[in-house]
Parts: sequence; C-alpha cells; structure tokens
Amino acid sequence: MSSPSDAPASAALFERAQKVIPGGVNSPVRAFRAVGGTPRFMVSGKGAYLTDADGREYVDLVCSWGPMVLGHAHPAVVEALQAAAARGTSYGTPSPGEVDLAEEICRRIAPVEQVRLVNSGTEATMSAVRLARGFTGRTKVVKFAGCYHGHVDALLAAAGSGLVTFGLPDTQGVTGATTADTIVLPYNDLAAVQAAFAAHGDEIACVITEAAAANMGVVPPLPGFTQGLREACSQHGALLISDEVMTGFRVSRAGWFGLEGVVPDLFTFGKVMGGGMPAAAFGGRADVMAKLAPAGPVYQAGTLSGNPLSVAAGLTTLLHCTDEVYATVNRAAEVVGRMASEALATAGVAHRLQTAGSLFSIFFTEGPVTNYAEATAQQADRYKAFFHSMLSDGVYLPPSAYEAWFVSAAHDDAALDRVMAALPKAAVAAGAAL
Ligand SMILES: *Cc1c(COP(=O)(O)O)cnc(C)c1O
Repeated sequence: MSSPSDAPASAALFERAQKVIPGGVNSPVRAFRAVGGTPRFMVSGKGAYLTDADGREYVDLVCSWGPMVLGHAHPAVVEALQAAAARGTSYGTPSPGEVDLAEEICRRIAPVEQVRLVNSGTEATMSAVRLARGFTGRTKVVKFAGCYHGHVDALLAAAGSGLVTFGLPDTQGVTGATTADTIVLPYNDLAAVQAAFAAHGDEIACVITEAAAANMGVVPPLPGFTQGLREACSQHGALLISDEVMTGFRVSRAGWFGLEGVVPDLFTFGKVMGGGMPAAAFGGRADVMAKLAPAGPVYQAGTLSGNPLSVAAGLTTLLHCTDEVYATVNRAAEVVGRMASEALATAGVAHRLQTAGSLFSIFFTEGPVTNYAEATAQQADRYKAFFHSMLSDGVYLPPSAYEAWFVSAAHDDAALDRVMAALPKAAVAAGAAL
C-alpha cells in the first residue's frame, strides 16, 4: 500500500480536509477506505490523464465515474463553458440551452417524448419514483439488490456503490417507514419479480432497475431479463424505470436502450449528459410526464435546474459524441479489459472480466457474477494490492473493487500502452495478496 510519503501534498491536503469535511471527502468512495492509503487530490485533467497535487500524472480509468467520455478539458466543452459563463451563471428563468439539450436527448432516444432537467442522478431517480407513484396512485417500489440509484432514502435498501464498498446492508438515518414500501429483489431473477407482482400486483407503482448494473461491479442483465421486467410491469399496470444515469450516452448514442431496445416508461440520466457539470434528467412517456408540475399535480422543482453552464457543457459533450467517439471508447474498453484479464491469467489469479457495452470491471472470483450475492463473494482484498500497484505506476483505477472502470475517447495508444506496462506487476501483487 502507498504511504503518505508517496504523495506528500495530497497527504497534507487530506489532513486539512479531514478537519473541516467529514472523512475529508464530499463523496465516500473518494476517501480510499476500501483500498487504504492516501487519496490523491487532483489539480488538473487533460485528455486521458489526471495530475495530482504532487505533480504526478496518471492515466485516468475513472473519468469522474463516467461523465468524461470525451476526456478531460475537451477544448470544445471548455470553450462552451467559457462562453456560457461570460453570459452569466444562472438566471432563474427558462433559457434557450435547456431546450436545445432536451431536444438532443429526445432525438437520441425516441421513447423519451419529454424530459425534465435536474442537477444530479439522485434527483432524477427520486423524482421519477415520485412521478410513478403520482401517476399510478400506488405506493410500492421494486428495486434490485446491488443496484444504486443515488442516495434517495427510499432506494437506500441493499444499494450498491459506496454502500457495497463499506459492506453496509443499509444506512442509518433512513427510517423503516421510508423503506417500508421498497421491495428489494435479487437482480436478474425474473421469478422473484413475478412472485412480487403476484403478492402485491395492485400496489406496485414501479420497478426501477439499472439498465445494466454497474455499481456492484459490472453485472449486465441476463438475456430476457429487461424484457421480462417490461412484460411484468405492463401486465400489472406498473411503470418500468430504466436508470441510465451511468449507461446513458456512454455505451451508445442512445445508451443501453440503444443496445437492447426494450422500452421503459421512464428513463433517468446523468453523468455524460452534464459533460462534467452537475446536470441530470428524467423523461419518457408524454402522458406520464404530463403529470409533473406545472402541467400536472406531481411537484418537482430546482433553483439551478437547467443551469446555463451545465446545459452548455452537456449539449456540447453530446454533440461531440459521434459514432467515431463511441467506436474509440468501445475499443479502448475492450483493450484495457482484455489486457488486464490476460495479465491476471498470466499471473495465475482467478478472476472474471465482465462487460456491459463499454462498461467493464474485474471480479476476483471465477464464476459468472449475475447478482449482488455473487458480486460480494469475490476476494476483494486482491483488488487492494492490484489497485496500489497500478497507482504507483501511474494508473488511476476506481478505489473500490465494486465499481466499473471507465475510459474515454482520449484514451489513445499512448495511454493504453502505459496501462499495459503497469499490469503485469499489479497482477502479481494481486496474486500474492492473500
Ligand atoms: C451515479 C448514479 C446515480 C446517482 O447519480 P448522482 O449524480 O451521483 O446523484 C444514480 N444511478 C446510477 C445508475 C448511477 O450510476
């Protein structure tokens, strides 16, 4: 593991941060608790690279957890932001960029007839669930263990992401009353879904699922799973919400919907569509969206929603996400995943590479991982050793075994070569870890 002397400037910042920010970070996984060591404080990003406070450069395989699909500080995005900032940072009125971004989202994903912009993925899923309850007049929500939908109280039951990382089954501060209407089922288990509908069919407002689960490591839906959810929801008058906050505009022009083609009633988006600024959205069927205030009775609002800087960064990012960009991202993902898997195989380390479009992650286990129970059965300690070896050789991986790895269109051969050079030693370290 790295010691503070490897990163003195980051260590000093972390010490200051811990005095004034709980745990020293503004989002838990950043604190490195799952892997140990000193979190790196980054001071700049360019293309596929991040530079930390000690002046060390890393190939970035986190990409801000997804948004930076074009790479850091893409010139067109920076220019759009500068131009937008010069016109003022927030008006508290409608503005033209919101319409442009909403139109681009609807153009890319035909079943999205209307869309409402918000500031974070959390707000998007929270609002979509409220809307589903308002539209159906029902109370219960079905979610899947290991799927993360942001830190919405009602959805923080068996959630993934930081909660898997810390092995917390749930969180304090969320009352039993709040999760009483949440039904948690195993991911990829259609029989469990059918049983839940058989027991509570006329009480279930919606099923919310990650379009392809990627917050417990990458666990794609098994063939027929999404379609089965669609059919169960339609049969029982519930809405299907596809959470595409991570997959949306990243795994294809039209996200996971573009790859699989199953039509949900509502989608949630975030990450890529903000281009690194706080922006997210939910949208779908016009008759459902018509229930939203001020058109309808379901309240939803935001002081900074549709912020002119956010929509400028988001729209510019989407307009630059061409077929060529997706091809480059897919190729980089394929190369990094395959190289990592080959290095681990050479070192004799049991592992499994899982992919969902250009999202991928490595589980330190042999069997296929199809749900949360299988995901958490991996030897996560091997990942710590792997992570720190890569970090010390200039590759920044997600600081948890339960997160997807991300690449961008800026991950060119030079960046991939650096990753390749670091892998053999990391694979050996992973093998020696237990
Ligand atoms: C990141 C994520 C969220 C939460 O988005 P925030 O912007 O962090 O609130 C919700 N759902 C999924 C699938 C995510 O990956």
